[in-house]
Amino acid sequence: MRVLLLGGTAEGRALASALQPRVEVISSLAGRVPDPALPPGAVRVGGFGGVDGLQNWLREHRIDAVVDATHPFAATMTAHAAEACAELQLPHLVLARPAWDPGAAIVVSSDTDAAERVAHQGYSRVFLTTGRSAVAAYAASDAWYLIRVVTALDTAALPRRHQVLLSRGPYHYDDELRLLESHRIDALITKNSGGDMTRAKLDAAAALDIPVLMVARPPLRDGVTTVGTVEEALAWVTALG
Ligand code: NAP
Repeated sequence: MRVLLLGGTAEGRALASALQPRVEVISSLAGRVPDPALPPGAVRVGGFGGVDGLQNWLREHRIDAVVDATHPFAATMTAHAAEACAELQLPHLVLARPAWDPGAAIVVSSDTDAAERVAHQGYSRVFLTTGRSAVAAYAASDAWYLIRVVTALDTAALPRRHQVLLSRGPYHYDDELRLLESHRIDALITKNSGGDMTRAKLDAAAALDIPVLMVARPPLRDGVTTVGTVEEALAWVTALG
């Protein structure tokens, strides 16, 4: 049994570790970050070249099943994998960690939507944590932004007033509290990523009564089999034989 495990997440690494050596696993990373945390076992890095490229790769490597453990916001990769597997009739599973309960957060559909809310509500000092590809949506905003990203930004489309903070999670409550206080943040913008690695900012914002704008997850294609935990994904692969 040979499985392609689309990764780039802690869950992907945990599943690669749990499946091996019983199952042959090839983990795949997009190659976005310079020194990624690597899963155990075989790893390939870089895009496949769209749905066609992925299908060719799956055939060439005689893959028996695909587990998509990418981040819940890696919507393009997830859509490509679903389409490629449906056409090749390959067993396919999405492992998506459970979403956060938005609680009192204002749920928005996109960063564009969030930028409009910032202007509408008159927020002036915003902690922006939705990632490098989201930053351009705030380029016309008059607010000041603390932009936290994993790797340096390479775009000129940035809000006029900002500070970039390069760092990688996991993040801890006390540090998040200090960060929000020291920068006098009055709004937090986050994706609904789910999981524990980045949730401390929500708890810190709640403790300080800071409003949260939460970008909702992109929808999954109909009919895709989905589980929320590494244990369930392990059981699914095991049941394939
Ligand atoms: P995306 O927008 O869904 O993917 C864009 C393209 O990048 C895909 O079409 C594919 O290129 C390539 N790609 C993405 N994930 C890949 C993978 N695991 N292996 C091989 N190619 C991959 O993805 P993204 O949001 O930029 O995320 C990229 C990676 O970072 C993902 O692996 C994800 O798990 C991880 N990540 C993302 C986030 C987030 O917030 N989006 C957060 C943490 C980690 P081709 O079309 O050429 O195949």
